[in-house]
Amino acid sequence: MSVPPASLQPTAPASIGSPLLNSSIPSGPLEDKWEEHKFASKLINPANRRKYEIIVVGSGLAGASAAASLGEMGYKVKCFCYQDSPRRAHSIAAQGGINAAKNYQNDGDSVYRLFYDTIKGGDFRSREANVYRLAEVSANIIDQCVAQGVPFAREYGGLLANRSFGGAQVSRTFYARGQTGQQLLLGAYSALNRQIAEGSVTMFPRTEMLDLVLVDGHAKGIVVRNMVTGEIKSHAADAVIMATGGYGNVFYLSTNAKGCNVTAAWRAHKKGALFANPCYTQIHPTCIPVSGDYQSKLTLMSESLRNDGRVWAPQKKADQRPPDQIPAEERDYFLERKYPSFGNLAPRDISSRSAKEACDDGRGVGPGGLGVYLDFADAIKRYGLATEGGATLSETDVRTRGEAIVKEKYGNLFDIYQQITNENAYKVPMRIYPAVHYTMGGLWVDYNLMSNVPGLFVLGEANFSDHGANRLGASALMQGLADGYFVVPYTIGNYLAPEIGKRPVTDRPEFQQAEAAVKERTQQFLGLKGRRSVDHFHRELGRITWDYCGMARTEKSLQRALSQIPPLREEFWKNVNVPGEGEALNVALEKAGRVADFLEFGELMCLDALDRRESCGGHFREEYQYPDGEAKRDDEHFQHVAAWEFKGEGVKSERHVEPLIFEEVHPSVRSYK
Ligand SMILES: Cc1cc2nc3c(=O)[nH]c(=O)nc-3n(C[C@H](O)[C@H](O)[C@H](O)COP(=O)(O)OP(=O)(O)OC[C@H]3O[C@@H](n4cnc5c(N)ncnc54)[C@H](O)[C@@H]3O)c2cc1C
Repeated sequence: MSVPPASLQPTAPASIGSPLLNSSIPSGPLEDKWEEHKFASKLINPANRRKYEIIVVGSGLAGASAAASLGEMGYKVKCFCYQDSPRRAHSIAAQGGINAAKNYQNDGDSVYRLFYDTIKGGDFRSREANVYRLAEVSANIIDQCVAQGVPFAREYGGLLANRSFGGAQVSRTFYARGQTGQQLLLGAYSALNRQIAEGSVTMFPRTEMLDLVLVDGHAKGIVVRNMVTGEIKSHAADAVIMATGGYGNVFYLSTNAKGCNVTAAWRAHKKGALFANPCYTQIHPTCIPVSGDYQSKLTLMSESLRNDGRVWAPQKKADQRPPDQIPAEERDYFLERKYPSFGNLAPRDISSRSAKEACDDGRGVGPGGLGVYLDFADAIKRYGLATEGGATLSETDVRTRGEAIVKEKYGNLFDIYQQITNENAYKVPMRIYPAVHYTMGGLWVDYNLMSNVPGLFVLGEANFSDHGANRLGASALMQGLADGYFVVPYTIGNYLAPEIGKRPVTDRPEFQQAEAAVKERTQQFLGLKGRRSVDHFHRELGRITWDYCGMARTEKSLQRALSQIPPLREEFWKNVNVPGEGEALNVALEKAGRVADFLEFGELMCLDALDRRESCGGHFREEYQYPDGEAKRDDEHFQHVAAWEFKGEGVKSERHVEPLIFEEVHPSVRSYK
């Protein structure tokens, strides 16, 4: 297998409006587009639906909701995941909540405000039509999940409770303590199980998609490896849906589950699907700081904690005093100081950069000075005093009552923090530092969520999404479930209707060739017998991508990354050691395939970051900033989606452009002050 060489030169600006990128946005007023599109979409009658087979790769929130909905509609669905159960998808890790424009708090929320906040939060780098639809269906998601029995938190009177997340001045986030993803996934999983029992969905756990199969230019199947027996096999379908999650683990250390990877998306990319905005990655401000060189995972402390926790760093450099001995006037509550309107709930990109600034300034806390405080002392006191008779209680009793209230809201997060750091965050402030968390980039899709490859649909974090250059907290769960429950069930009919009876059989040469290539690659990994572990290469790639394409990027750092990744990849293909065999469970083999793909993808991510000569959202180019350190966009040259086309092994990828047209919201310099 050949190793693609480096693509060091920045690509010349592509022509505006590539013909490959037809976004299929319906015409008409923004608020009518989705209703009219649904009405104009092709229907497939119930008796015919059972004649179609649909592959869904992924059973996280996006995949499980899509598979369950399509099964319920009468389609025959095959659903794949690499975990032993859909219940273990990475979605289960989501802690803080899910947004919806219900306006239960009567604090001025509306579909329009959620739309506006999301467009602005994404730094004006997402499509208006998609984002409006997302805001519109957000309310349906909550109803659907409540009907499934998802135990959202409730007020004393029984109504659903809300809290706030970054980038919003209203309370629109629905939650189930700090385990919202888990509860939502149990809901989607129950719906999926119903369909499995009915026979409309066949579930393939422990099965990894290793290639996409195109027949006459259409996505008509996949090649998978049974991770327990090693069997490599093809599956054909009328359409393929990928809901395979994000690629944050290209940085090695991230808050993502260790298994999250780019393989399915990268394999589809190499078969023709364009990869959009790969450089848009989200760094989350509130994670537990790195503690050592051999750490393999980072842990999120949910953004919901910033409803009550106050972020601060000492004003003095290298201040070694314990936090309780630093008086209030010597503390810098930097988010409250810099962004008085949004305070501790400034969006993630902005909050992350502010924490980095404080640490770069020598004011960081904890080992290595890479941390700032997230302090609950004031909230504990405020809650304690607000309880009945609180004002008359002793300080200790106020504290006890306050802690109980904080525990009720965030108890499991405090437990996680204590288990990892051995510190009690009710007594001493948490230490936090930004970490890689989410990927806004992904496979390019049109308004129907279909990629440029006909028949290939992409949902959830795997698509380039509705979040532009920065996702607001609690919006990923909303988008994944919107895609799966409420968008693709309508839009897929447009593709399927004329495709009736065209499902290929798996003994066609396209399937045979793809299977042979997967087998060859598997054997190649096993035959290398090098001296370095797969993790060694992954860790090295992570060091390069984090140091040079992390929270801040420069032309020079990106050039450096682009010169270091190809030799690392070459070394991998010469010197990686994959023990064991292919015909059995082999975790090293699974990892090798994923890291090999990260080593190619990482280069594209850096190239995209190099070519985007502006700062926007999660993409901060140090050359492009205002004197006060805020991101400086260049709307004239970069108000577009950049989508990359794979041109062959060793050939430079081509950059295509979909212009972003704003008819409703006027792009302005984001201000959260
Ligand atoms: C710690 C943490 C907390 C978060 N908290 C929140 C929150 O509070 N609110 C919010 O909105 N968002 C949150 N997010 C983001 C959110 O959880 C994710 O973006 C979302 O759950 C992704 O869902 P998904 O269905 O797209 O992908 P996933 O849940 O990652 O599912 C991917 C699926 O694809 C399958 N798969 C992948 N590759 C293959 C392959 N090659 N072959 C077969 N199957 C494959 C996997 O097995 C899995 O079933 C959080 C993220 C993290 C990391």
